Amino acid sequence: MSDSRLFTRFHEQLMQLSHSAEFINDHREQKLAALTELCAKALGMDRVSVWQLSHGHDRLNREHLFDRNRRPADAPAPDTAEPPVLYRSDHPRYFQQLEKARLIDASHAQTHSATQSFTANYLIPLGIQSMLDAPIFDGARPSGVICIESLALHHWTLPELSFVVAVADTISLINTQEAWLDSKRKLEYVTRFDTLTGLANLNSLRDRMGYLISKIRRRKTGRFALLWLDLDRLKTINDGLGPQVGDAVIAEVGRRLSDLKLPGKDLLARIGGDEFALIVDHGPLLDALDELVNRIRQEIEPPLKIHGQHLSLSASLGICEYPDDGHDAESLLRSAEAAMYHAKQRGLGQTCRFDSSIQTTARSRFAMERELRQAILNEALEVHYQPIYSSDVRTPASAEALVGAEALVGAEAPVSAEALVRWEHPDRGLLTPIEFLEVARGAGLMYELGSCVLRLVCRHLQQARARQAKLPVISVNLASEQVLNPKLPDDIASICQEFGVCPSVLHFEVTEDAIQGDSKTLRTTLNRIVAAGSELAIDDFGTGYSSLARLKSLPFSKIKIDRSFIMDIPDDEDDCAITLSILGLARGLGLSVVAEGVETLAHEQWLRAQHCEFLQGYRYSKPLPFEAFLERFILNHATAIRT
Ligand code: C2E
Ligand code: CA
Ligand code: CA
Repeated sequence: MSDSRLFTRFHEQLMQLSHSAEFINDHREQKLAALTELCAKALGMDRVSVWQLSHGHDRLNREHLFDRNRRPADAPAPDTAEPPVLYRSDHPRYFQQLEKARLIDASHAQTHSATQSFTANYLIPLGIQSMLDAPIFDGARPSGVICIESLALHHWTLPELSFVVAVADTISLINTQEAWLDSKRKLEYVTRFDTLTGLANLNSLRDRMGYLISKIRRRKTGRFALLWLDLDRLKTINDGLGPQVGDAVIAEVGRRLSDLKLPGKDLLARIGGDEFALIVDHGPLLDALDELVNRIRQEIEPPLKIHGQHLSLSASLGICEYPDDGHDAESLLRSAEAAMYHAKQRGLGQTCRFDSSIQTTARSRFAMERELRQAILNEALEVHYQPIYSSDVRTPASAEALVGAEALVGAEAPVSAEALVRWEHPDRGLLTPIEFLEVARGAGLMYELGSCVLRLVCRHLQQARARQAKLPVISVNLASEQVLNPKLPDDIASICQEFGVCPSVLHFEVTEDAIQGDSKTLRTTLNRIVAAGSELAIDDFGTGYSSLARLKSLPFSKIKIDRSFIMDIPDDEDDCAITLSILGLARGLGLSVVAEGVETLAHEQWLRAQHCEFLQGYRYSKPLPFEAFLERFILNHATAIRT
């Protein structure tokens, strides 16, 4: 058969196997068995094996062997001469080749420089003449090797070489998929459970209420209560005794609440810093509620001893019921929270049941909506800027250590800055996004808010240019309401044009959950933004459910790792593992990575060591108003460089 026909046949066979649903859904062991068998049969070879390289690259462990001459009945293997482990110290040349070669083509295996060391103990006893080995790479690192062995002398042909490389790549793909699934399982845990207490989190609570509500609707009978429990004075504990003590208190309360036996007790969740929620699922409740509250208080109020301190605790409790106080999970959460605030206003350790007189938060919500709409219309919002540094330059934090008070002298300019919206409320002072974005969302104002922020940013870019101050790239957050609206690219273009701003100085951040739905419009919108010259980053990465295939198919060039993963680095092994797997994944997909929430030297050192490209966080600066940002990082910096 001609080389080109052979080539085609090999690759067709491999494709047929690796694309079959059965193969894709099989376990790793079966996949390797099928691949080695295919390889041996297609090439007419005697033995095909797959080996795994240890982390330190000092050992190879045989993971699978297909031996044509061994009938299944022969098992276990009689080949005592053949070690299932190979050591670098015995075969230094072979290991060196694994790290750099795409193929080790050893037709004369017993004399080839890379495989000669196997001759006495391996090749001669097994009668092997020729070998062809293809290292398996995961990203840039070798992770194993596939070995083809022939008892007869064999000169490898081009189609054979290319086939074996393709099989090695298929195994590398299997490895990547496994690593991805593994990190996804870890991430899934983080998105469903609270890591401090191991209890369910708000997402799970919402889902559970949704499930109960649909069950009750179907059966046309049933009710449940939602209890919102907020620890009193936890802030005082945190401030006075440190956050570790605060965390220990929360963990202990979580334990006590999980141990509590109550009739109808359903899901217990930790839904915020010092806030817990409990679903109690049972018949007519009102009479039983007092009893329930007593039991909870008895459980959590006995003093607890933490780090040698005796602390007494109390909690404010808000209670509401389905269906009386809300018809879906969100409205029930609102009612329970409003009742809890009502209780808190009465003092410590109070309980309040939701009723229609507790409309205060709802009413203030309406007022807030009105004011926010007005603020957007008048462009009365503000934008603050937080610098982002390249991890291989000298940052203000590192310069500070060097030159003391002259913090910025010697520090390089930030590579970019994130624009973060603020709202100076007439009565409540400066509000951060958490305090008003939900209101904007509820009122359907997110698109307008986003356009307003973009206009403010472009105006700042224009002002900076007029003052000959060169701002770095500005990264602007886009809400899902914006990316799902097909007119977004046109609106961005016209705002840029109005202020004479080139779209390439703007980057956009889109959260993982905003890109969940698989719509063609979304894809088109993102592609158009990139075509206009802006870059896109995935924000809060790790908190959602992006699939590998999806990440590949959308035009993102950057990933921002969510602050929650950075917070406990390097002490928390899970967080380190997740961050590492995100970094590896990004590298594999050719994306750069920004770590958010870099607060300490330890964070910075760890991230640098892992080659995370960009760093953002309080360690370098909190978000600052435009003037302050310009002053500190742009104008000042320029003088620092000049002098
Ligand atoms: P984000 O996009 O993840 O922004 C980063 C947030 O983390 C900012 O909070 C920032 O102040 C805070 N942060 C940065 N470094 C550190 C650190 O070292 N430690 C701690 N503890 N926090 C740090 P901010 O400004 O409150 O924004 C919260 C969220 O509001 C943003 O999270 C973003 O999702 C949203 N947001 C802000 N501005 C806009 C906007 O213009 N449009 C839209 N759609 N969303 C926005
Ligand atoms: Ca962001
Ligand atoms: Ca973020």
